[in-house]
Amino acid sequence: MIHDLALNMRQKIISLSLDTYELASKKANFSAWVRRKLLEEVEIPPEEVILYGMYCPKCILNFQHPNIAVAKTYKCKFCNGETEFDGVIE
Ligand SMILES: [Zn+2]
Repeated sequence: MIHDLALNMRQKIISLSLDTYELASKKANFSAWVRRKLLEEVEIPPEEVILYGMYCPKCILNFQHPNIAVAKTYKCKFCNGETEFDGVIE
């Protein structure tokens, strides 16, 4: 696993000023922090966001969520009952 992860990594040298070097030195894992910050800037176009649907038969209400694990175990936010998983919303 770790071996596979390392194979997918690339290195890039960056230049830091004295003050930013100090800040970077305080990060336990600077590389992971940079990767996370870069990914935070990536905006997913609305048409690429997959939403899963859930249905509460008791309240006759539909819900949606982008996380499949959350969607499959979703509790109705009004009655707290089990919802039916409807799969991907087209
Ligand atoms: Zn409900």
